[in-house]
Amino acid sequence: MLIETSNIIVLKLGSSTVVDGRGKFKKKWVTTLIKDIKRYGKNKKFVIVSSGAIALGQKYFKINKKKIKLDMSQAIAAVGQIHLASEFQKLFEKYKIKTGQILISPDDTEQRRRALNVRRTFDNLFKLNAIPIVNENDTTATAEIKYGDNDRLAARVAQIIGADTLIILSDVDGVMLPNGELVSHLNAATARQMITDGIITGGMIPKVETCIEAVRHGVETVHIINGNKEHALLLEILTDTGIGTMMFE
Ligand code: GLU
Repeated sequence: MLIETSNIIVLKLGSSTVVDGRGKFKKKWVTTLIKDIKRYGKNKKFVIVSSGAIALGQKYFKINKKKIKLDMSQAIAAVGQIHLASEFQKLFEKYKIKTGQILISPDDTEQRRRALNVRRTFDNLFKLNAIPIVNENDTTATAEIKYGDNDRLAARVAQIIGADTLIILSDVDGVMLPNGELVSHLNAATARQMITDGIITGGMIPKVETCIEAVRHGVETVHIINGNKEHALLLEILTDTGIGTMMFE
């Protein structure tokens, strides 16, 4: 679904989309995104699900290790999340757009009553014209009760709030065929078959499974886009579906 016909759009920004290789918040990229959002004015509602708390926290403490124990990464996320939210808040504020922070645990989306409550909070933020900036509540979740990754969190949020479009920006170009060709359009049944047939492999499997679940639960289209490319700006993504992979039911 193109942006002209979408009402509620969830943007999932992966760590590598918002934090560069040296651990710095990518102000320039995020500013371009904010300018895009601004162009749509109040006609569309945007939600940002952003990773990056742990990456920014690591930079702050100068910890370079790839593998950090869960309990320590929770403490690092506690620090990094403040930085992440504050970076977004400062940049959006420059363009006179208000933001609010929502930290979610699986309990909040998997239990009906709590999910309804979450939905109300989003609705009220929309009424206040504030853009929700969402992340997993990393500081309290244990390994067994984590979403696993922010793709899943973003998909659950999109379902609960009745979003039409979910855009997943990460460091992959989209779904690729073994010959390196990009699949620009993909329906859920074909995607499932491609996983069964071993055409979709590795880290792409959970990503695509998350997309399948989202489109089967009412999100009309999910886009998998490379957020590290200059072209990956909202306007282009949503007016030219040839960028990345667009998935639908
Ligand atoms: N919530 C984690 C963070 O902000 C990232 C999880 C993910 O990207 O899947 O660092």
